[in-house]
Amino acid sequence: MDFDLSPELAALQQSVRQLARDKVRPRAREIDTTGEYPADLFEAFRRADLLGLCLPTEYGGSGAGILGLTVAIEEVAKYSNTAALMLLLTRLPTGPVLIAGNEEQRRRYLPGIASGSQRAAFGLSEPQAGSDVAGMRARAVPDTRAGHDGGWVLSGTKCWMSGVCQADWYTVFAKTGDPSSRRHDAITAFVVERSWDGVSVGRTDHKMGVRGVDTGELVLEDVHVPAENVIGEVGGFRLAMLGLNSMRPIVAARGIGLAEGALMYATEYVEGREAFGHTIAEFQGIQWEIAKLAVDIEAARLLTYRAAWLADQGKFTKEYVPFLSMAKYHATELAVRASGLAVQLLGAAGYMEDHPTELWYRDARQLTIVEGTSQVQLGLIARGVLGRDLWWD
Ligand SMILES: Cc1cc2nc3c(=O)[nH]c(=O)nc-3n(C[C@H](O)[C@H](O)[C@H](O)COP(=O)(O)OP(=O)(O)OC[C@H]3O[C@@H](n4cnc5c(N)ncnc54)[C@H](O)[C@@H]3O)c2cc1C
Repeated sequence: MDFDLSPELAALQQSVRQLARDKVRPRAREIDTTGEYPADLFEAFRRADLLGLCLPTEYGGSGAGILGLTVAIEEVAKYSNTAALMLLLTRLPTGPVLIAGNEEQRRRYLPGIASGSQRAAFGLSEPQAGSDVAGMRARAVPDTRAGHDGGWVLSGTKCWMSGVCQADWYTVFAKTGDPSSRRHDAITAFVVERSWDGVSVGRTDHKMGVRGVDTGELVLEDVHVPAENVIGEVGGFRLAMLGLNSMRPIVAARGIGLAEGALMYATEYVEGREAFGHTIAEFQGIQWEIAKLAVDIEAARLLTYRAAWLADQGKFTKEYVPFLSMAKYHATELAVRASGLAVQLLGAAGYMEDHPTELWYRDARQLTIVEGTSQVQLGLIARGVLGRDLWWD
């Protein structure tokens, strides 16, 4: 057993830490205030070769794996969860292509992500179908229209899609079987290009945090999708869903980075703030809050790094789900607690926009919702225990 990062990953951690301090930290507040997409940060990530971290070298990536992306996101999330989301979006839509797609799809869609010439987004949710994906109404039927040589006609509306405005292509899920079926083999994943007829961005959301990367609707009106853009096989939702399992450590990294940033900031503040003739850092009540959070952060990091290590070995099938889900659950719930405590430790100052604490507090709230809510993760962990995939005997 070895708890050290490899020399390559330790070097990556150091370089991203520096980049995050120099480029991300000074921009975080402005991105939140203006809500404008931080193209300068995308360019900084591109120049630093961070956009292909988790993509294999044969597709133009750097092959640092899920652990590499996790380590990088943790650093960036110390200052901006919007910037962390930009890195996450190099994996969320590409995951199904990597795991279930064919060689031609990988060669066509992955190098552009690694080089930064293209961006992508992930469309699973619909207004009536978030946790309950089987309730989706987007539909794909065989294209029998004159002039089309087979393929599919895709219609429906996806919502809350992160990065929908900037994306050049989308991983989209639709029912290809009986629309009323709740079976997962009634659902198929497709790659849909933004430039195709019938593809448009609908309304974008006004959200409480993680501003700067819009979420919004993708509207699909009788879109012709060539047969070769089916990811995996028709009805192959299960394989594509493995992409989401493998994402758990990556979204967890957004939580641990945020928690670390919040605790470090609040600690420095209490060391300088005086009350009752002492700095408030001298009070035991404050110290114990700091200590409890430090324990939680280290526990979340261990869970997250283990989950990333598992995912990099292809261990994201059913028997590993509890280990992946508990990283996401623990790290994102921690982010909410940590940002709340940071606001409290700063008192009134923490509530004001003069400090980043209120921004972290708003940003953290999305982490327990996206990519499987905390309740969904608890369900998956419990299923693992009840099914003896997680057992200590
Ligand atoms: C900022 C942001 C970005 C997003 N980006 C994307 C994206 O890029 N692509 C995408 O496809 N989606 C995206 N989403 C959508 C996200 O994945 C869904 O919001 C999430 O899956 C939850 O679905 P829901 O909002 O419909 O909540 P619901 O499923 O309606 O759940 C509401 C509440 O009920 C609880 N609940 C539901 N079922 C159960 C159950 N069986 N047991 C116990 N409790 C339960 C949930 O935990 C939650 O607390 C994004 C959402 C946000 C907020």
